[in-house]
Amino acid sequence: MSQAYDWIAPELNRLERVGWYRTPQISQSPPGPVIQFNGQSLVNFGSNDYLGLAGHPKLIEAAVNATQAWGVGSTGSRLLSGHRQLHQDLEIALAQFKQTEAALVFSSGYLANLGVVAALVSSQDLVIADAYNHASLKSGAKLSGAKVYEFAHGNLEQAQELLSQHRPHYRRCLILSDSVFSMDGDLCDLPKLLGLAAGFGAMVLIDEAHATGVLGPTGRGSVEHFACQEQPLIQVGTLSKALGSLGGYIVGSQRLVDYLRNRARSWIYTTGLSPADTAAALAALHLIQAEPEHHHKLWQNRNLLAQLLAELPPSFPLKLLPSESAILCLQGETIPAVQAMSQILHQAGYWVPAIRPPTVPRSRLRLSLMASHRPAQIIGLVEALQAWTV
Ligand code: PMP
Repeated sequence: MSQAYDWIAPELNRLERVGWYRTPQISQSPPGPVIQFNGQSLVNFGSNDYLGLAGHPKLIEAAVNATQAWGVGSTGSRLLSGHRQLHQDLEIALAQFKQTEAALVFSSGYLANLGVVAALVSSQDLVIADAYNHASLKSGAKLSGAKVYEFAHGNLEQAQELLSQHRPHYRRCLILSDSVFSMDGDLCDLPKLLGLAAGFGAMVLIDEAHATGVLGPTGRGSVEHFACQEQPLIQVGTLSKALGSLGGYIVGSQRLVDYLRNRARSWIYTTGLSPADTAAALAALHLIQAEPEHHHKLWQNRNLLAQLLAELPPSFPLKLLPSESAILCLQGETIPAVQAMSQILHQAGYWVPAIRPPTVPRSRLRLSLMASHRPAQIIGLVEALQAWTV
């Protein structure tokens, strides 16, 4: 390669030096509570498949049937040749599940966030965002060209100050927040955020990626959890976590969806979701409403792990972060300490990824629960953690 690319090698060295260099490992097993790496079976605490649906026979059957009927690819953008009845059925089912007027399905949650944020605001507008928001919301805000101010994680007093100071100088204002923070597991105070937005004439967009299928009495997400269904807001999310498939969505008013169909570039200029992914997500929506036991099981498992982690002795070197979701995090002092812990758990037969900068400011073990974990697997994990302290 020409000299123009010579900067890449030293940059890779720098990433390695500061402990930020990452490579994916090949997982040799189908989705489930046990994952295989290099021939070793590990209990999987690193999956977003909260309800254990990614390998569910009903989703597989729906995907296979849709592929046989409609082929592998959807062959074009939704506005050209790539729109199928299946897409419409999924959007109707999503809107019904989320108790909104309408829905729009994107090729991924990342693309939904990019496209929706950049369609709602532009250079004349203001974005107020939680500093711990997902990378896709941050990228969407940047892409939009709006002026962006971040408030410290969860600090709505600071959000209010930013709104008081800057809102009068901009045309539109959009407040962005994850509803469940993906690397901490805590929740945004949605009722308070909506109250704040109403006072300043601001739109609110929440990212329900880790809340859909998880939070609320029937798994409809944080809006159900906080009983905010009647309030004006925009929800984005993914089909790739509790719904077990692939893709992203936005739900809200019919007018909003009509607007996004015409203005969200990451929806307009990309190929429609594949028939298999669409059909699997639709099957998942039917399944979680017909079989609430998956949701109950997830919460039993999550509450068991939360209780056992809370009982770890004060001398335990990692700190349990506050969480109200199916994500539980143990934060450590240094990157090597957290990586060492992840390695020890690996040797003991548990897959618990270490999350480190730049994804998070301080390294942590991130544990995500699945409905399909057995209690003995959760108890075994905590025993392996305890063995490290002695
Ligand atoms: N938002 C959040 C909060 C996420 O955690 C993720 C996935 N990690 C996304 C959006 C992106 O979703 P997808 O994987 O469907 O692109």
